[in-house]
Amino acid sequence: MFGLIGHPTSLKEARSKLKKLGYDHLGEGDLDVWCSAPPQLIEKVQVVNPQGKVIQGAYIDSCFVPEMLSRFKTARRKVLNAMELAQKKGINITALGGFTSIIFENFNLLKHQHVRNTTLQWERFTTGNTHTAWVICRQLEINAPSIGIDLKKAKVAVIGATGDIGSAVCRWLSKRTGVRELLLVARQEKPLQDLQNELGGGRILSLECALPEADAVIWVASMPRTLEIDSSKLPNPCLMIDGGYPKNLDGKVSGEGIHVLEGGIVEFFKDINWSIMELAEMEKPYRQMFACFAEGMILEFENCHTNFSWGRNNITLEKMDFIGKASVKNGFSTLNLKNQLQVTVA
Ligand code: NDP
Repeated sequence: MFGLIGHPTSLKEARSKLKKLGYDHLGEGDLDVWCSAPPQLIEKVQVVNPQGKVIQGAYIDSCFVPEMLSRFKTARRKVLNAMELAQKKGINITALGGFTSIIFENFNLLKHQHVRNTTLQWERFTTGNTHTAWVICRQLEINAPSIGIDLKKAKVAVIGATGDIGSAVCRWLSKRTGVRELLLVARQEKPLQDLQNELGGGRILSLECALPEADAVIWVASMPRTLEIDSSKLPNPCLMIDGGYPKNLDGKVSGEGIHVLEGGIVEFFKDINWSIMELAEMEKPYRQMFACFAEGMILEFENCHTNFSWGRNNITLEKMDFIGKASVKNGFSTLNLKNQLQVTVA
């Protein structure tokens, strides 16, 4: 059995959506009510891959909302309680979606293996970041040429280059895709230099300097809502892959030749009988999902019950190859620009 741990994108959205699902006490509750709410197993689901293999899964809402990010102890408790519930339900492999994997890493939850009388078994959980990184790389490789960008001649900026997903994307783009130049963007200098040394290349730039040079930009950082981008300074054409969470780039950039694509989203080959992706406001909620969620499903289809994506900056090209092949085999394709066909060949 696979599991997905998620959360609503805001308190406002959480209240209206959960009311519709029949959770009236949460639907009417304020932030304090949500802070004390235990995780909820919202939905069970059955999924069949193209080969006819059937797997069972469950969606657990951690009842965390981003407004709680500044409440360190609450955020930690929300993630650990949701993990405990997943383990108690006997779920073999559970993906930590949205902010839950970031909370796990940033708040060092590895030190909190004991939740009441449960000892969390880490091998039952995955961040899903390997699949997310692979999907974002494929989205770039598929969509850049379709808008006239030749990646061999292109400069590609990775915003959040030193992060878990960003560093994996940089490894893939420099060793596999072979872009002309990688522009590495993050705030801290030392990790940027370490990454540059590991890659044996790439240019470290500030965001302001990178954007006017970049033919394609991969966003894998949660950017502040106040960020402003001067669209008139971007190259034409320019592909922006919005892999961060929440996805808010399309409201910040627009103009001729600028294409924004939601990053790290996959589509299953047929409808799944669930309602959870309506909560995430997917355009096709019965087929589309976050790539990190899909990693949990893929690992279950492959009987790979292990914490496949775990810790920071451990994602290897070999792991990306494995999850990419398994993704295609099990019926997933990348989300592409609107005028693109879904491509299922890795
Ligand atoms: P990490 O915390 O490992 O990395 C974040 C990166 O962003 C670091 O390089 C960090 O470096 C950089 N960063 C943070 N803030 C800024 C800023 N203001 N300006 C420039 N760089 C910044 O995160 P992950 O790699 O795990 O996740 C990255 C993003 O992807 C998140 O937004 C996450 O929610 C999203 N995600 C999407 C998924 C999907 O399925 N679509 C799945 C999982 C995650 P520094 O601190 O030095 O600036």
